[in-house]
Amino acid sequence: MPHKIHLSTSEISLKFPFKISTKNTNSILNFEEKLERYYGTDKKIVALNSGTSAIHLALILSGVKKGDEVLCQSFTYVATVNPIQYQNATPIFVDSELDTWNMCPVYLEKAIKDRISKGKKPKAIIFVHIYGMPAKVDEIVSVAKKYNIALIEDAAEALGSEYKGKKCGSFGDFGILSFNNNKIISTFGGGALICNTKIDKQQAIFLATQAKDKSTHYEHSKLGYNYRLSPLLAELGCYQLDTLDQNIAFRRKNNQFYQNLFKHRNQVLLFKEPSKSYFSNHWLNCILFSECNNDFFKEELKVQLDKDKIEYRTLWKPMHLQPLFKKHPFYGARKSEYLFKNGLCLPSGSNLKKNDFIRIKDSINKIL
Ligand SMILES: *Cc1c(COP(=O)(O)O)cnc(C)c1O
Repeated sequence: MPHKIHLSTSEISLKFPFKISTKNTNSILNFEEKLERYYGTDKKIVALNSGTSAIHLALILSGVKKGDEVLCQSFTYVATVNPIQYQNATPIFVDSELDTWNMCPVYLEKAIKDRISKGKKPKAIIFVHIYGMPAKVDEIVSVAKKYNIALIEDAAEALGSEYKGKKCGSFGDFGILSFNNNKIISTFGGGALICNTKIDKQQAIFLATQAKDKSTHYEHSKLGYNYRLSPLLAELGCYQLDTLDQNIAFRRKNNQFYQNLFKHRNQVLLFKEPSKSYFSNHWLNCILFSECNNDFFKEELKVQLDKDKIEYRTLWKPMHLQPLFKKHPFYGARKSEYLFKNGLCLPSGSNLKKNDFIRIKDSINKIL
């Protein structure tokens, strides 16, 4: 029996036992320092137990409170949106554009104008670099500046991606990263908040460690959370960060493989960097079926991939279509619905072997 080829995995070798103390916060500080070195010295980074908690803290630090409205990219994973609800604020969804599949700056501005005309100015914007592809950063940043709204950048899938030579995660008032299992580097659960100031970083650490006031006893005047990364996982993060460049090279090579595979086929379109301004880590490779024959080829291909034990996934189902968020406003032209209906993610891990590529190629060639 051949092994199953998964969508996105990377391998980590661990050697137990090694020495680490439960009191040792040095591991966390080392990991943060290493991330800050990676991002450049002007960024202050906080290691947390997930990307989701990083988004939650970014919202709190942006002043998002009960009843506020937050503009959010609809075409994303649910983790981008849930923290808005944790704050009892309201997500307002914005469609994607088809160059990067990320937040459409035109609909973002339309949404802001409409919300203001209805009497409420949105408190924050969350945009995403989906599947590792940088969004239209200049346009989104300029809209956020024009209306003076806090900008939160969900770079959970885009560590190592760049826009105009600058790293994703560094453009917003806050950026967030995830080191969950399937991400480009993993700590078996973990995340980070990227801040622009030391004060924001200190405040984030304060909130992430149960908001204990300065006192000789346990004194609390603010609601806190248990969101800090475990030192053991921080230790792992330091090692993982050393493998990032190699993983990006692997993932970009996967993309090259798919580019060759789909070069002369008009049934499908491979998701690609729209121009030289965009450098994707190609976390996942995705295809779109051309509209005239999508249902037939898509269903046939899914059956074949199942048969050949090759994992695939549909693209994210837009948040404005989720039962959980069906009452929330949406601004757009159904581009994200089009992506959901016509797309598929293909195996893109950092550890695909020569034989895996042959199996993927053979399987796809049987249908297309
Ligand atoms: C993975 C992911 C997150 C959340 O990260 P966790 O570490 O799993 O909490 C947020 N946004 C996007 C787009 C993601 O893919």
